[in-house]
Amino acid sequence: MAKTDVVNDIKQLSNLEEEQKIIDKAPFCHLKITNAQILDTIEGRQICKRCYRSRKFFCYSCYLPVINEKYIPKIKLPIKIDIIKHAREIDGKSTAIHAAIIAPDDVRIFTYPNFPEILDKEETILIFPSKTATSVDSLFVKQVEENNRTITNRIGDAFPIKRAIFIDSTWHQTKAIYKDQRLRDLHCIVLKSRISQFWRHQKKSPRWYLATIEAIHQFLVELHTCAFDQRYKGQYDDLLYFFKYMYEKIHTIYDHDQLWAYKRPLI
Ligand SMILES: [Zn+2]
Repeated sequence: MAKTDVVNDIKQLSNLEEEQKIIDKAPFCHLKITNAQILDTIEGRQICKRCYRSRKFFCYSCYLPVINEKYIPKIKLPIKIDIIKHAREIDGKSTAIHAAIIAPDDVRIFTYPNFPEILDKEETILIFPSKTATSVDSLFVKQVEENNRTITNRIGDAFPIKRAIFIDSTWHQTKAIYKDQRLRDLHCIVLKSRISQFWRHQKKSPRWYLATIEAIHQFLVELHTCAFDQRYKGQYDDLLYFFKYMYEKIHTIYDHDQLWAYKRPLI
């Protein structure tokens, strides 16, 4: 590599880091997320109706809210989402639960080795950056052979898939779950690179390794944009309702620059 290339790379990286510092100051300002201030008025903990354990806002064992539903925005998703959680992932720390609370009709959580039944492999995808993974955009392109020629057609205004599977665990555990044969047959999708705002420090994972709720949100934004060929208008932003609330709580206690999670390398 020529010396000028190296200099350009360093310049680019420092620009990237500067840009990220600006985004980090107000990471949710472009999103349409219901104001969660009302959560501050809820004092103490409540008892979960199913397991009788004491919980704040929602029960992370039963995936049920423990506060009045009026405090929680609800959204409908365009496809079903199944999340496979590693048994050793600590329930209380996982953001996958946010999706099950906010989109209860469309999200299910399984604890590995429990698995969702995959009925139609053609219409189910796995979000995982495997070697053969393709972009969300590629789901909307169909190649057909015609007179010995390959013609590329775009599928418009419809969702080419019905179900997406996410793995909720540390990067290390995720790779282990991916070894399961039941997942190996699925078409893998890799998301566009986005920088995580997750405050929970994960050893050896770069900052583009998203929290599960961030990944689900990112995926739906990409899917929507591809399906309707129009600008995304924030339909799924409320998935980040608890995530943003907790982010802001953590940041009132700790200074952003002191949090280890944000010191992870950008690339
Ligand atoms: Zn419970």
